Amino acid sequence: MNNYSDVSFWFDSLDKNIQARPSLTDDIEVDVAIIGAGFTGLWTAYYLKQQKPDLSIAIIESEIAGFGASGRNGGWLKGSIEGESQMYAGLSLEQRQQVIQQVTGIVEEVKTVTQRENIDCDLHHGGVVYSAARYQEQLKRVDDSLSYFHGLGYTDDDYHRLTAAETKQYVNVRGCLGGIFIKHVATINPAKLARGLSDTVEALGVTIYEKTKAHSFNNRVVVTDNGQIKANIIVPAVEGYWSGINSDLKNHTIPIISNLVATTPLTEEQWQEIGFDKRPAFRDSSRLHSYAHRSADNRLIFGARGSYLFNSKIRQQHTLSPDEYAFHMKFMLDFFPSLEGVEITHNWSGTLGMSRRYSPHVIYDPKSGLALAGGYSGAGVGASNLLARTTADLILQKDSDLTTMPWVFNQSPNSVLKRWEPEPIRWLGYKTIRSVFSWEENVDNNPDSPRWKKKTAHTAAKILAPLLGY
Ligand SMILES: Cc1cc2nc3c(=O)[nH]c(=O)nc-3n(C[C@H](O)[C@H](O)[C@H](O)COP(=O)(O)OP(=O)(O)OC[C@H]3O[C@@H](n4cnc5c(N)ncnc54)[C@H](O)[C@@H]3O)c2cc1C
Repeated sequence: MNNYSDVSFWFDSLDKNIQARPSLTDDIEVDVAIIGAGFTGLWTAYYLKQQKPDLSIAIIESEIAGFGASGRNGGWLKGSIEGESQMYAGLSLEQRQQVIQQVTGIVEEVKTVTQRENIDCDLHHGGVVYSAARYQEQLKRVDDSLSYFHGLGYTDDDYHRLTAAETKQYVNVRGCLGGIFIKHVATINPAKLARGLSDTVEALGVTIYEKTKAHSFNNRVVVTDNGQIKANIIVPAVEGYWSGINSDLKNHTIPIISNLVATTPLTEEQWQEIGFDKRPAFRDSSRLHSYAHRSADNRLIFGARGSYLFNSKIRQQHTLSPDEYAFHMKFMLDFFPSLEGVEITHNWSGTLGMSRRYSPHVIYDPKSGLALAGGYSGAGVGASNLLARTTADLILQKDSDLTTMPWVFNQSPNSVLKRWEPEPIRWLGYKTIRSVFSWEENVDNNPDSPRWKKKTAHTAAKILAPLLGY
């Protein structure tokens, strides 16, 4: 692939003439070899070099830096991580508050580094609104969600309830019933951040080999088509792409397709209709993971989670199928009917990794020389920064606050990671759960649905949701 502008709207907004960096052509030896130039790999290289400039680091990337989820996502930089309840189990309130401090500090850290390194990624710290809208059932989900976060130790200053009128001040979504405002979220142009970071680490002395695919890694050697890399430490940072590597670790994360559309820049009148004046990130409380924000150039970016392909196949096509496109349009207009007829200039999809543990991990195993960070389950834009900082500290054997965090495991990866069920159970399971979520959404969103149908749909969805870590 040589023309990268169709990877995502974000890539299309970059300089059009991106040339891949040179590939690996020989066998080499380095201190640290990183597989994958997404946020995890790039941030890890950055924090390693910051602390130990003489470390030799090579990143190998099968396409170009930012080509994966990091250059295609919804642009939410979240000061939170998935699976927090599982992670906080057994911790005292004081310990949980220490974790919360680390997690909620992500946005400020990224802000500080991007300013220091002159990476312009359109970062806008506008918080996020989780709304209850379109149907009554969402109101309970919003209240449950607020109780959940307060139960973990977050305060009203972090997560606070909004009335319907207050929510509408942020976003005028159809049938708004109320919401939650969370201040620890910013929006970015993720391709600008990934490409900017890749230039930054390169300037610090990291070598990035693009168009170089790793086939396997073992015994401190990464094998590629063009040569081998011997390294003291290997950091596989391939999140949604594990199924493409020959490794016994690959079944712990499956590739999930996630889809987005971007409108043409909207007019001031259109924005007055739908809100977003302060440019918050936005989602409602559907189980279909719908989310949106207003880009720096005034487009509405709208996305929802998609499908899983049999045998963890990774989707090569970047654009949406006609069915996916129709679904997104219908969904977006259900939120914002005044956008009927608006031009969609971009549609694209990407691959995120869903970990069977349902919560992120940093695993450092000095015996095998492996350091693994990931398991973001679709929320890795911010989490990758925090976990990369942790990974760097572990590799450098520093005793820091980060290395005591509950996502850290000093064990062999196989003893920490769980495997997904084998096929066809994996595929059938995912498909069934998604179908039930879609059915629940349709039933709830239909004012004529009888009570028994709603009750059945809720019961089925509630039973199945934990199987995907929701
Ligand atoms: C459509 C979409 C929307 C999302 N929205 C959000 C959001 O708004 N907020 C949020 O927090 N998260 C979001 N996510 C998730 C987030 O983007 C990811 O969690 C995060 O970018 C993961 O970064 P990473 O570096 O671990 O993986 P990636 O960015 O996927 O990087 C992995 C890299 O490894 C390369 N690679 C793969 N296999 C090999 C190999 N064998 N050899 C060499 N290189 C290889 C790939 O080309 C890729 O560049 C979204 C994801 C998608 C797909």
